[in-house]
Amino acid sequence: MPRTSPSSSSTLSANGRYRCAVCGFDVRLGSASIALDAAHIRWHQAGGPETEDNGLALCVLHHKTFDLGAFTVREGVLAVSDQANGSTGFQEALLAYHGKPIRDPQHPDWRPGMKHLDWHGREVFKGEARHRG
Ligand SMILES: [Zn+2]
Repeated sequence: MPRTSPSSSSTLSANGRYRCAVCGFDVRLGSASIALDAAHIRWHQAGGPETEDNGLALCVLHHKTFDLGAFTVREGVLAVSDQANGSTGFQEALLAYHGKPIRDPQHPDWRPGMKHLDWHGREVFKGEARHRG
């Protein structure tokens, strides 16, 4: 059994990625980033490599909702599932970013790899992307 969540941040480096790629969350305690993960795009259990292009800096909220398929990233743009809904939090934390580009990492080599994002869109993302508008 996996001892951690599907995309544990245990080994993937969060170096240089100090804010959530979705919302920009960058809270620190002293000098240490907190509640910010280096999420695996393609899960470790599914053969996802420990490489920078399989990583995405996400706050815990966006890490969890990404791992559960409430949103994915297509061609650099965030797509929220048409199955995701809610009142408090949904609009502000997810829908507000629908159709918006994710933030670039601090180094171009750390940009998320298309093949990993394709895998996420196929295997993890739930339902269809909402219509923009
Ligand atoms: Zn976030």
